[in-house]
Amino acid sequence: MGVAARIVVYAHDKDLAQWACSRAFRRIAELEDLMSDYRPHSELMRLCTEGHLTPVKVSPDLFFVLQRAVELSQRTNGAFDITVGPFVALWRQARQTKQLPTNEDLQRARQLVGWEKIHLDPVSQTVRLAVAGMRLDLGGIAKGYAADCALSVLSRFGLRRALIELGGDIVVGDPPPNRKGWRIAILDEGGKPERFLELANCAISTSGTTEQFVEIGGRHYAHIVDPRTGLGLTKLVLVTVVARDGITADSLATALCVLGEKEGRPLADAYGAIAFFRERDLSTP
Ligand code: ADP
Ligand code: MG
Repeated sequence: MGVAARIVVYAHDKDLAQWACSRAFRRIAELEDLMSDYRPHSELMRLCTEGHLTPVKVSPDLFFVLQRAVELSQRTNGAFDITVGPFVALWRQARQTKQLPTNEDLQRARQLVGWEKIHLDPVSQTVRLAVAGMRLDLGGIAKGYAADCALSVLSRFGLRRALIELGGDIVVGDPPPNRKGWRIAILDEGGKPERFLELANCAISTSGTTEQFVEIGGRHYAHIVDPRTGLGLTKLVLVTVVARDGITADSLATALCVLGEKEGRPLADAYGAIAFFRERDLSTP
C-alpha cells in the first residue's frame, strides 16, 4: 500500500505476541494483494478489466470496501469517488512531466469516472462496471480497512492492547496498561505536534495536500483529486478524523479534504466522527 506498517502490542507472552503480529501483517499483505491498483493481477484490477463484460463475483473484503466507498460517494455527492483512477493516472503523469493534462485528456478520463457507474449486487456479491476502461482506486479507503482487519486478527489472539499504523491511518484497541488511551499527536502543517489526544477503541486518520503534490505554473496540485475538475486539489488542507473504525476515518479524512470544513463538518457529525481542519485558500494571495 506504499507505506510502512507498524504494530504496537502489549502482551504477557512474547511468542504469542510475535505470532499474532505476523498473522496480522499477513492479513494486511493479503488485503494489499486484493486491493492494490499497482498489481495487475490483484482482484481489484481483474474487476476493472472484466467488470464491464459481466458481473464479477468478488471477495467479501473487496465487496465490503466497495460498498462503504459507494455509500460515502452518495453522501458526499461524489466528492469522495473511487472511480477517479483515470484522473489519478493523469495526475501521476503530470508529476512525471510537470505538465497539466490537456482538456482532451480530462474529457476522455471523465467518461470513465463516476461512482454511479459501479453496480453492486449484495445478494450475489457481484460487481458490474458500466463502461469499459474504468479504473477503481482504493487509495483513500483501503489502508484504514486493512488496519481494522489487523486489529481483529490480534483480538482473536486475545491481544486487545494494540495499535496499528499504516501511513497516516491509525487504529487503536484497548489502551496500554495503566493508561486511559494511546497518546497520539496531531501535527500542524509544518509537522510539529499541535495537540495530543488519548484514544482507545477507535481510529484516527490524517489526509491532506501538504506532502504529495506536483507544482506546475506556481500552483500545487495534490494527489487527492477533485472529481468535479479532474485535477489535484490546489488548496492547502490537512484534515484529521477520529472515528469509530479505520475504514470510516480513512475515507472520511480524504472526503473532507475535498469538501472543506463548511460542508465537511456536518458529514463528520453524521458519522459520529470528530474532524480537525487546517485549511488555507491559496488561490487568493
Ligand atoms: P494517503 O494515501 O496519502 O494516506 P488519502 O487517504 O487521503 O491519503 O488517500 C489519497 C488517495 O486516494 C490518492 O492517492 C488516490 O489514490 C485516492 N483519491 C484521490 N482523490 C480521491 C477522491 N476524490 N475520492 C476518493 N479517493 C481519492
Ligand atoms: Mg484516506
